Formats: sequence, C-alpha cells, structure tokens
Amino acid sequence: MFQRVLVANRGEIALRIIRCLREMEIESVLIYSEADKESLPVKIATIPVCIGPANAKESYLNQDLILDIALKTGCEAIHPGYGFLSENAEFAAKCEEKGISFIGPCAEIIRRMGDKMEARKLMMEHNVPVVPGSKEVCESLAGAKELADKIGYPVLLKAVAGGGGRGMRRVYAPEEFEQAYQSASMEAKAAFGNGDMYLEKLILNPHHIEFQILADKSGNTIYLGERDCSIQRRNQKMIEESPSKILDKQMRAKMGEVAVRAAKAAGYYSAGTIEFVVDEEGNYYFIEMNTRIQVEHPVTEMVTGIDLVREQIKIAAGMDLSVKQEDIVMNGHAIECRINAENPKMNFMPSPGKIDFLHFPGGKGVRVESAIYDGYEVSPFYDSMIAKIIVHADNRLEAIRKMRCALEEMIVGGIETNDKFQYLILFHPEFIRGRYDTGFIERNLEELLEWGKDYE
Ligand code: ADP
Repeated sequence: MFQRVLVANRGEIALRIIRCLREMEIESVLIYSEADKESLPVKIATIPVCIGPANAKESYLNQDLILDIALKTGCEAIHPGYGFLSENAEFAAKCEEKGISFIGPCAEIIRRMGDKMEARKLMMEHNVPVVPGSKEVCESLAGAKELADKIGYPVLLKAVAGGGGRGMRRVYAPEEFEQAYQSASMEAKAAFGNGDMYLEKLILNPHHIEFQILADKSGNTIYLGERDCSIQRRNQKMIEESPSKILDKQMRAKMGEVAVRAAKAAGYYSAGTIEFVVDEEGNYYFIEMNTRIQVEHPVTEMVTGIDLVREQIKIAAGMDLSVKQEDIVMNGHAIECRINAENPKMNFMPSPGKIDFLHFPGGKGVRVESAIYDGYEVSPFYDSMIAKIIVHADNRLEAIRKMRCALEEMIVGGIETNDKFQYLILFHPEFIRGRYDTGFIERNLEELLEWGKDYE
C-alpha cells in the first residue's frame, strides 16, 4: 500500500480524501492555493504545500508544479478528487511517465471516455443502448442539420469534449438550428479547446439515473446500485438519492448489468459512473461515463456500506476488489442535498463571504461532508458548493423526514445559501412521490421561490 499520497484538490473532497488516507495510515501531501491557506484540509493534511495564487491555472491546474511537488515530497500516488485534473488524460499520462500512480483509470481510458462521441461509438459496438442520434462527429453544419431533420425535432446538440452542461443546446425547430450549432460549438471551443459537435434526440424531461461502478485491474467489475440525480438546475445536480423510486428490482439488475458491460467495454478500472437518461416508458440510454469519484458518491456509500474512496485507493495500489457482486446489498435509503453559497432569490447568484455562525446538523444517519467552519471565509474563486448533507434511513419517507430535520437544524450565518430552497423541495408533492424528472426545477421554480417568501 502507498505510504504517502498527494491530494490535488480543495474543499470538502480534499477533506474526504485526507480523512480516508488517515484511516488507512497513509500520509497526505495537500497542495493549496494562497486563497485556501486558512482552509480546513490545510490544517489536517500531514504536509500542506502552498502551490501558488488563487487562479486555478496557476495552482490546482498547474500540472508540472503538482508533479514536481509529488516527486520532491516522495508521494507514490496522486488523488485528483473531482473537477480540476480528475478527468485530464494528459495529467494522468504525465503521472504514469513519472512513475506516480494516478488514483483513477489510465490516461488512455480517460481520453477514450472523455471524448463523448468516441464513448458513444464504443457503447454502440457493445450493444449498450445510446440515445438515437449521431454515429460520427458532425462534419459540417449542413450535414448536422440534415441529420437533425432525419432524427426529428427536438434535438440536443452536444460538444464531443463537453462537461458541466457546457457546449449543449436544445433545438426545438429547424430555424433555430444554425444559431444553436454555432454558439454551442464556439462555447465548447472556448471552454475545452475543441468545438466538435454531435447530435442526440432530445428526450423530453427524462430521469437522470447513474450507476456506480467499481473495477479492479484484474478485470473484476461490479455495480453498486443507482443514484437518481434528476433534481437539476441548468444541468447541475442539486439533490441525489439512492435507490431511485423509478427502478424496480428487475430494471436495476438489467441496467446494472448493462453498466458493467459498458465499463468492461472501456477496459475500465477504478471507481466510475455510467450515466443514463430514462424516458417515460422506462427506456434507458447511455449518455456518458465519468471516470472519477463523483460529488454524490456518499449516497451510494450510505446504502451499500462501501467506502468508495478507500476502494479507489486500493485499486490504484493494485489490489483486487474485496467484494463480489453478490455481496452488494442496498440497505435503506439515502439522500444528499448540495448546499451552495448562492442566493436563489437573485437567480442563484454566488454569495461568497465570511461565515459568522455555523451549526451543522447531526444525529443517527446524518452525515455532513464539508470543509467550512465558524469564521471561515468562502472564497469567490471556486465552486460555490460549501457542504453536502447526506441522510440515511430505513426507507425513503423516513429519509425525507430526516433531511427536513437536518436542514431545519442547520445554520450558516453571514452568507446566503440555497438551504431553504432545498428544504422546500422536500415538501413538494412531486418530489415526495419520487417520480420527478429533470424538468422538475424548471417547472416548479416560481412556485418554490414563492413558497420561500413565507419563510422570510
Ligand atoms: P455534461 O457532461 O455536460 O454534464 P451530459 O451528457 O452528462 O452532459 O448531460 C447533462 C444532463 O443533460 C443530463 O443529466 C440530462 O439531464 C440531460 N441530458 C443529456 N442528454 C440528454 C438527452 N439526449 N435528452 C434529454 N436530456 C439529456
């Protein structure tokens, strides 16, 4: 097993990884930017190293400097967390060259699955259902438009290199196509350096269902059930739960097996996620694979009892999975709410600043993943997520009740957060029924904001 691992991330996920390393008696080297010098991970890492200014390009994305620090401090591996360098094939390749284990799959797999069209082709070859649409990257605007006519509107334009909802456009009619294509392609070019596009049929208000995968380097691949992440705002997840109310046992087993087939097709190892959209009739389609640990991984940990970060580290160290598919049992129900420093009343504008009072909820089945503390200054430089509240209970209704209590108890003073907005979702009949889809927030935004006024 590794003796020292570099953590190339910040905030709650850096803390999550450092805690896991401590439990495994592995030392942690944490790189941090000047903006994060007062952060909690810096205080608990074995060796914190300031790497540069707040600007991520000069700190958390500074590949060569990170590698240099890893080598100088004698790290055998690097954990990239999520975001930043976690799905950067070039960085994974550089780690390999320097003889440092990248805690994730190899560069080739990251590259293959990071190219969404290539991933789509691979899935088609292996009989994994994909959304009807492109078989190749769009060669030209005219060719793309012809294909859109053939598939039938509405269609969804997607960037081959896309992520975080960028480079994506819904197109409802032919006359909107050209403008949408050009603006999406330009956006993708600016964000990812690649403006290549492909097309999918737009599934109207689907469910977002994803399967957690674990695979070792010996080819053992298992699935750990699903997460329903359909509560999204602008393609960004807000609430995740496991299991999903829309899957029965048979469908879970079937989709789980397809997810394992998809991971095997990619030659995958490490923790990963296979994402599907599911339509009203229960048809499911692969949309992409995430080759990293995900923000919402705790809900799977709560229902399966498996520490996914620990498994990821063990796999990177060359160990085989300690569990088999038949050992995976889903117990009870887990829900996660992402708490962001933002103001829902002002179009969810980020609300950084100093936290002048903090109380986190607790009790049986309540888990808080967060790196903030009383007096902490939330930085404007990075993502606005400041905490994840996760609850686990015997069944879904109890989990909803527990989450309501947890959010009632929580106090984050000094800044605006989305906690009340999240709280109100937990009372919405559509959410309580559990058959909500990705259109939920769009449909109910006005109503939820209106309800919120009663709490002012
Ligand atoms: P990104 O990598 O940018 O996050 P994804 O391909 O994962 O993009 O899609 C993001 C979200 O967009 C999904 O969670 C889902 O809600 C929605 N989505 C993706 N593909 C489709 C589709 N073909 N039809 C309808 N919604 C889709």
